[in-house]
Amino acid sequence: MPRPILATVHAAALAHNLARVRKAAPDARVWAVVKANAYGHGIERVFDALRSADGFALLDLAEAQRLRALDWRGPILLLEGCFELRDLELCSRLALWHTVHCDEQIAMLATHKTQLPHRVFLKMNSGMNRLGFAPERYRAAWTRLNALPQVEEISLMTHFSDADGAKGIAAQLQAFEAVTHDLPGERTLGNSAATLRHAAAMDEKSDWVRPGIAVYGSAPDYPQHSAADWGLQPTLTLSSKIIGLQQLQAGDTVGYGSSFTADGPLRIGVVACGYADGYPRHCTTGTPVLVAGERCRMVGRVSMDMVTVDLTPVPDAGIGSEVTLWGRASNDVVLPIDEIAQSAGTVAYELMCALAQRVPVVVGD
Ligand SMILES: *Cc1c(COP(=O)(O)O)cnc(C)c1O
Repeated sequence: MPRPILATVHAAALAHNLARVRKAAPDARVWAVVKANAYGHGIERVFDALRSADGFALLDLAEAQRLRALDWRGPILLLEGCFELRDLELCSRLALWHTVHCDEQIAMLATHKTQLPHRVFLKMNSGMNRLGFAPERYRAAWTRLNALPQVEEISLMTHFSDADGAKGIAAQLQAFEAVTHDLPGERTLGNSAATLRHAAAMDEKSDWVRPGIAVYGSAPDYPQHSAADWGLQPTLTLSSKIIGLQQLQAGDTVGYGSSFTADGPLRIGVVACGYADGYPRHCTTGTPVLVAGERCRMVGRVSMDMVTVDLTPVPDAGIGSEVTLWGRASNDVVLPIDEIAQSAGTVAYELMCALAQRVPVVVGD
């Protein structure tokens, strides 16, 4: 028998979440963001469930090729644009739309030979200070791009740094509007948090929204809101089984470093899942885990291949009992990935992307 660890991608939940995001921005078209191999889910595994998206956004050219190989004929947007000249050739060949965020990309476009002029998304740095032209340089970049025969259509783009938090999007939205209000072209502004939390402010200002994490069933503003608060369903379950049992007495410890000490008799389940599977090592005693669909707590340290669980709430559990590290158990009880991420001091994005190669993945419903 193979080691019992398994990741399940929930196709119906992906479709549900996409529809949920659409409802938040009913007049906008939706880029389903599938960068980082669809946030670790696998582009090929999510494609069918997400094919009602208006387009796919990503940044790796090989991933764009994989989408075209799936026969996706609709829009694909490269969120970081082109890195070198031959990327532009691929854009021409595969009809990829690409972000233009710096002078070097404009210069590269100017030397590109193409029969098919490109659709480009000119990015403004409205305050995030990663990619994009500063507001005072944006219109000059637009004018230069607009003069290129290689460019067919210019869309306008920015990205918010604080859509999930107290600062919000108002200042960046205003910076963007002030410079672009009379420029032609479609706009794309918001990620998941902006789309869910600032729908009213973005209304009619964003022709396209760019949700990623919400599509994958995590709340962009956890713990202020949970995924359930937003009506989002988990799209990825990490499950395994109990492969060992230990009966502890008061004073016994568990695992490396003896970080957990039993204060009385305690039954421990040893689960076939560790940090080499992508389960975060920063999770410590108290992190929730489902055994047979019941909430239990992890005890001791996460090791490479195993974690250890206090079985007090599930006296009937034994070797072979189902363990859900995050996601949905077979009794439909949900352990939100956001809770595990918080326990590890990180975000669900990182956990999804860190799912290890050695974990087999199936698509289920
Ligand atoms: C990753 C990304 C998104 C999606 O962000 P989420 O927080 O996952 O919704 C949107 N826009 C850009 C430019 C991105 O890089």
